[in-house]
Amino acid sequence: MIKFLDLQKINLQYQNEIETKLLEVFRSGWYLMGNQLSNFEKNLSDYIGAKHSIGVANGLDALRLILRAYMEMGVMKAGDEVIVPSNTYIASILAISDNGLTPVLVEPEINTYNIDISKIEEKITSKTKGILIVHLQGRVVFSDELTEIAKKHNLKIIEDNAQAIGAAWKGKKTGNLGDAAGFSFYPGKNLGALGDAGAVTTNDDDLAKTIRALANYGSNQKYVNIYKGLNSRLDEIQAAVLDVKLQYIDNENNIRRQIAKRFIDEINNPAIILPEYPADENEHVWHLFVIRSEKRDQLQAYLTENGIQTLIHYPIPPHKQEAYKEWNDLSFPISEKIHDEVLTLPLSPVMSEEEISRIIAVTNTF
Ligand SMILES: *Cc1c(COP(=O)(O)O)cnc(C)c1O
Repeated sequence: MIKFLDLQKINLQYQNEIETKLLEVFRSGWYLMGNQLSNFEKNLSDYIGAKHSIGVANGLDALRLILRAYMEMGVMKAGDEVIVPSNTYIASILAISDNGLTPVLVEPEINTYNIDISKIEEKITSKTKGILIVHLQGRVVFSDELTEIAKKHNLKIIEDNAQAIGAAWKGKKTGNLGDAAGFSFYPGKNLGALGDAGAVTTNDDDLAKTIRALANYGSNQKYVNIYKGLNSRLDEIQAAVLDVKLQYIDNENNIRRQIAKRFIDEINNPAIILPEYPADENEHVWHLFVIRSEKRDQLQAYLTENGIQTLIHYPIPPHKQEAYKEWNDLSFPISEKIHDEVLTLPLSPVMSEEEISRIIAVTNTF
C-alpha cells in the first residue's frame, strides 16, 4: 500500500541527529523557553528573512496571537472585518472569529485554489482592517496589486504560511511578504514537529513584543501582567527537532517539486484536471498535490482498491460547516465546486520512484 504520508520514514531520515537532540534536551533538565527555542527562532528568522520569529504552541495560536496583538495595539477592534479565502482550512477563519473579528469570505481562483485578488476590493468596507492570505497547498498568493490594495485602504496583510514554508515570490520568502505570518509545524506539514508547534514571523518590533507577552500570560516580566494573555509556547523538544529539520527543508521541497513535475508531465487521464505548475517554480512547495475530477468519489475508490491512499482537502467548505451556521445559506460556487471535486494524491519527499510511477499508472487507467 502507498500511504498518503509516511511520517515515520520522513523523520527517520534524520534519526541520529534528532535522537541526539532529544537526549540532550531530556538530560538538560530545561524544557521550556531555553536555548533550543532561541536557536530555532534565530534560524527561522534567518531562513525567512524576517526580523522576528516567535515560537508558539501551534499554527492556529500563531494566527490568533497576531490578530489579538493588533487588537491590543489598537489597530483592530471587536467587530472589525478581516478578508479571508472562502476555501481555506477552517483554522484561518477560526483565528479571526475567535478574536471577535468578522471573517469576510472571498472566493478563490479555480486554477490556483488561492484567493482571487481581483475580488478583494469589492468586499472592503469601512470596518475592514486586514487581509488574511493563505498560501494554500504550498502555492504563493501575492502580487503588487495586493500590496496596493492594502496600502490604499490601510489594511494589514497577514500570511497563513502553514502550508508553504520555503516558498518564495520574487526572491522573498512567504512569511516575509506581508506584515506578519503564522506558521504551523503540525507533524504532517512540510516542516513538521513531533507534536503541535507553530511560530509567528514579522518585521514589526511592536507586534513582536506584544505577541511575546500575549503568549506568555500577557507578561513581559515575570509576575507583571500587562494583557489578559494566554499560554502558547513552543517547547524545547519541538524546537530542537524543528531546528534539525529546518536544515533540510529546501532539499525536501525540491524533491516535492520534482515529484509534482512528474505527476503533471505523466498523468494524462482526460477525467482529471491537474494543478498548474507555476512559471517560477519557487512559488510552490507542493505541500499538497491536489487534482480535480467530476468523478472524484469513484476515482478515490479506484485508487483505494489499487492500494493508493488519498485524502480530500477539504470535504466541507467553511460556509457549510455547522460551526458557521450563520453562513450556511450563502453561496460560494467556486469553493463549492472545489470541495466537491478535489482529491489529494500522496506526495512526499520519501516516496520511491516505483511508488511515483505506480500512482501515475493507476491514475491513468481510471
Ligand atoms: C495546519 C493549518 C493551520 C493550523 O495549524 P495547527 O498547527 O494545526 O493549529 C492553519 N491554517 C492552515 C492553512 C493549515 O493548513
